[in-house]
Amino acid sequence: MAQQHPLVLIAGGGGFIGGHLARALIGSGTRRVRCVDIKPLAEWHQIHDDAENMILDLREIEACRASAKGVDEIYNLACDMGGMGFIEHNKALCMISVLINTHLLMAARDAGVQRYCYSSSACVYNADKQTNANVTALTEADVYPAMPDDGYGWEKLFSERMCRHFTEDFDLITRVTRFHNVYGPYGTYDGGREKAPAAMCRKVIQAKLSGAHEIEIWGDGEQTRSFAYIDDAIDGIQRLMRSDIAEPLNIGSSQLVSINRLVDIVEKIAGIKLQRHYKLDAPLGVRGRNSDNTTIQRLLGWQPSISLEDGIEKTYRWIYNEMSTAG
Ligand code: NAD
Repeated sequence: MAQQHPLVLIAGGGGFIGGHLARALIGSGTRRVRCVDIKPLAEWHQIHDDAENMILDLREIEACRASAKGVDEIYNLACDMGGMGFIEHNKALCMISVLINTHLLMAARDAGVQRYCYSSSACVYNADKQTNANVTALTEADVYPAMPDDGYGWEKLFSERMCRHFTEDFDLITRVTRFHNVYGPYGTYDGGREKAPAAMCRKVIQAKLSGAHEIEIWGDGEQTRSFAYIDDAIDGIQRLMRSDIAEPLNIGSSQLVSINRLVDIVEKIAGIKLQRHYKLDAPLGVRGRNSDNTTIQRLLGWQPSISLEDGIEKTYRWIYNEMSTAG
């Protein structure tokens, strides 16, 4: 009998990154894919008919056991999260995601899963190292002494450490990605959980379609970030999963931009100029954040291949299409 390809569980497969990862793994022709998410199928970002799609609440240990049954590898991308507006106002909900990773690790250990990848975040980094818009890019060591983002960042850091101890104590191979702002088509662009690139595209499109040539920007717009295009992130997470690197690695862009510059880019794509209104009391997060990719480049040969300008253009076109067809 022909040997079957390994079965991969994508926890959070109905989400943004999970949907893209499922597409890539199915497309590789080397993996069978099971996607699990708490949302009804109608709300999944992408549905892949070639995957096994299940709706379960992964905070529950029994749901994790059912999801991990017969599985060779797990990517845990399931998390109750969103952009700055969401994580600032929902710290308890963010921290409850600790149940997902804890129960999935236990289920993985008990089911004899071979590899486990946890999606952490740049929000684990020490806030004191991010007080300046002209920030020094963060290396993996900048996480300690620990002072991550309140709520969301603490959950991520705790879960990173849980992975490490499951490796040390139970021999479960774990990998940890520290994603820095991933964006692209099939992402959330409205409803309160969207992040800056998608939010700016939506706002500019709304202004263009309505003729009201104004835009609201959170803060003074001089806060800085870097933004990684989804295809690069998907390449990075797969490389890390296949590697022998047990330490967490940054997967992000090192192209630092201010939010004002991001708006410039979107305006140029849209072919308009908007009157900017600054909402100074909006949730902002750290003043500056950038990804130092020296380690991942050295160890895995990974670096982003898509410029912010090109990635934003693809994202803008997708959101424009979605908004136009939604009426
Ligand atoms: P997303 O919100 O689109 O996907 C997360 C998915 O998890 C959602 O579909 C959600 O329904 C699902 N989920 C939440 N609670 C669940 C539960 N109890 N049981 C089952 N499923 C549940 O987010 P994303 O952008 O795809 O992010 C994926 C992972 O990457 C998350 O862990 C996130 O923290 C991390 N991350 C993302 C970014 C980014 O910029 N997108 C940056 C840093 C880290």
